[in-house]
This record gives sequence, structure tokens and C-alpha cells, in this order.
Amino acid sequence: MAYRPGRQLTSVEEARAILSAHGEPVMRVERVALDAADQRVLSRDLVVANAVPRFARSMMDGYAVRAADTAGATREHPVTLRLVETIYTGRAPTAQVAAGTCAGIATGAPIPAGADAVVMIEHTAREGAPVLVLQAVGPGQHVGRAGSDLVAGEIALAEGTVLSPARLGVVAALGFEAVDVYQRPRVAILSTGDEIVAPGGSLGPAQIFDSNTAALSAAIRLHGGEPVVAPRVGDDRKALTAAFKRCLDQDIVLFSGGTSVGERDYLLEIIAEAGTVHFEGLRLKPGKPTVFATVAGRPVFGMPGNPVSCLTNAYLLVAPLLRRMAHLPPATERVVRARLSSEVESVAGRHQIYPVRVDGDAAIPVFKGSGEITSLAHADGYFEIPADVESVDAGTVVEVTLF
Ligand code: AMP
Ligand code: MG
Repeated sequence: MAYRPGRQLTSVEEARAILSAHGEPVMRVERVALDAADQRVLSRDLVVANAVPRFARSMMDGYAVRAADTAGATREHPVTLRLVETIYTGRAPTAQVAAGTCAGIATGAPIPAGADAVVMIEHTAREGAPVLVLQAVGPGQHVGRAGSDLVAGEIALAEGTVLSPARLGVVAALGFEAVDVYQRPRVAILSTGDEIVAPGGSLGPAQIFDSNTAALSAAIRLHGGEPVVAPRVGDDRKALTAAFKRCLDQDIVLFSGGTSVGERDYLLEIIAEAGTVHFEGLRLKPGKPTVFATVAGRPVFGMPGNPVSCLTNAYLLVAPLLRRMAHLPPATERVVRARLSSEVESVAGRHQIYPVRVDGDAAIPVFKGSGEITSLAHADGYFEIPADVESVDAGTVVEVTLF
């Protein structure tokens, strides 16, 4: 069967609505080392077993004292205390601080029994063995209490929390060297086309290097997925069908190329035979020949071969679904307003994603064409032109969504 021309085009809004009904969060879990856990999502609550810190500690280098002993101390009328020991970090105190005595103490060392405050070293003087206290302290001063950071029994971080540098600090403070997280959705990436050669290979006279696999893999990682790159296949129905079957082992399947209306564009046929096609073309530029289907419950995207179309739709359509499957919140959009530096034309009837470079308050158009990946590489973001608008004048203030 050759292909069904005259396919129905779907609007971007409808496409988004359709996609929002698909993509169940992946519930498989794994344990990962702390240094690999940034941006991963906790699969269970982290409950505090032991308070952090476990002991009351000094917040200053100085002397642990009984606050009452220092009452009235000034530079002119210092209080004299006898030094009983010096407590360095990592050691438990051995002596009690009784009335009239003190213990030298380092920042982070445990407060000895009997003491209830710390005098900063800057507020003391030494005259041989005794310590002269030059300023009074109140009870609790410069003492960090046990459990000041986390108390036993509390949930330090809840299931569903996205780990960050500070949250990894919490996990480490609790003593865990590894953490239980949801597995990342595995995303099969399959670039198709007789003309496509992997970077590093040698090009025939009519061939080009595959830019989509690299760009898609990076976009997938950025949004919480694990790319699983399948070996490239040519425009051969049998080979494509076999490759497609193998990709169905993964949580999401992304094809690039072969979704258009050419004689050798077999993908839509293959996908339609295997599952349910939800849309097979978009009123969108770039990115019209984009297919979304589910096959045995798995989201399957047929991405356009043109690199700009392919990557734009990865951001626009694949990322939100992927993030949901990865237990990640929607990406935070960063939008800046900028003045369009020159007029931009747009095709009637198609929503356009228009890449621009932002320089100060100017938005400079950089779109060359759907096949030219520098259209995106030289852009800082894009603005959207609704389907019914055919041109946007120079000087118009546009909202640029930054990449
Ligand atoms: P197709 O979607 O297969 O009709 O391809 C549309 C255009 O994108 C053609 O010019 C292809 O050569 C090009 N193309 C397809 N796949 C890739 C790829 N992986 N990397 C770069 N260009 C591609
Ligand atoms: Mg092709």
C-alpha cells in the first residue's frame, strides 16, 4: 500500500490535548549512588531515623561555659574560669563543666555536660591557664541543638521529590550513600532513511550525517528520559518493521524520518498496522509530518526527518509527555519580551514556531528552514505565530520562550 495522501491535519492545541491523555508515570524503581542522583525522583519517603545532628554542638570556636557564670562579665571586669579540657571535633567530651570552670571547644564539637553556652574566642583572653571571659553570654548562646536540622521520625524528603544539590545534601546528611528513585522512562530513538549516516562514518555522494539522533538523545536526557539508540535503518519496509518491533521493548518510541507522504515513507503504515494512530500530521510549521500513536499502550512518535522540525516537536510535544512519565513537573518556561528586528512571514493556516536570537531587547529572526539545524542552534528561543497570522511586522514586541 502506498500512503494515504490528503491526511487530516491536527491543530497544535488538539495535539497537546491528545498527548495529555497518554503517558503513564513509570513505576519501576532503582537504587542509584548519590553522585548519579541529581535530578532523579525519589520513589519513597526518606524518613529520619536519627536526629541530625545527633548531639548539641558548638557553633563557634571558643569556650563551653555555664551561662550563669558569665553574668556581668566585661572587658573591664572579666570573669575568670578554670579550663578543664579542650574538646576538638570528632571526640566526645570526657569532663563535666562544673561551676567556675569551662572547656575549650571547636566549632562542631559536642557541648560537654554541665555547659549551656559558648563564649566566642574573640570575647576571651588567656592569662596562663585560666580563661578570662570578657563578655557575658545567655543560656543556649552559640549552641546548636541536637535535631536542629532534622528530628527523628520526620519525613526529610517525600516520595516524588526531584533531587537537587541541596536535597542530595540532605540525603547524605542522613547517611545514605544511595537512594531509591523511579527509573527514567526508556526512549527508543530510531533514525531512518537511506541517506542517513552516523557521525564518524563516511558519506556517499547523496548522503548526510544523522543529526537527529544526537539532538533527540540530548533533549530526552534533559527532560528526564534515558535514550536507547537503535541502529539506523534505511527506507526498507521489512527492515523498518523489524526495527520497530524491537523498539517496542522501551517505554516510548521515537522515530525520525519517513513520516511524510513520499513513496518510501513507510512509517505511518507500519505504525497504523500495529496500533492506534491519534494524529498523523499537524497544522504546525516546522513539524507538519508528525505522527503520534499508541502501540500496546506505548506512546510512539513518528518525528519529521527535518532536523528543525524534529527537535522543535521534541520540545513542544514529546517533552511534556516524557516529563509526566518521569514523575517530573512541567518544565518551567522562561519567557522574555523582545522587539522583532525585522519582518517575519508565516504560512497561512499553520501555527508557526519561529526561532530568534535575543540580543538586549531585540529578537533577531534566525530561521533558515526546517532542514537547517543552525536555525535552532543559533537561536536563544522562539516565539509563536498563530495559524491565522500571515506576517509579523518589524518592531512588534514578541514573547520569546527561551530554550
Ligand atoms: P523525511 O522525514 O524522511 O521525509 O526527511 C525529511 C528531510 O530530513 C530529508 O531532507 C532528510 O534527508 C532529512 N533527514 C531525515 N532524517 C534525518 C536525520 N536523522 N538527520 C538529518 N537529516 C535528516
Ligand atoms: Mg526520508
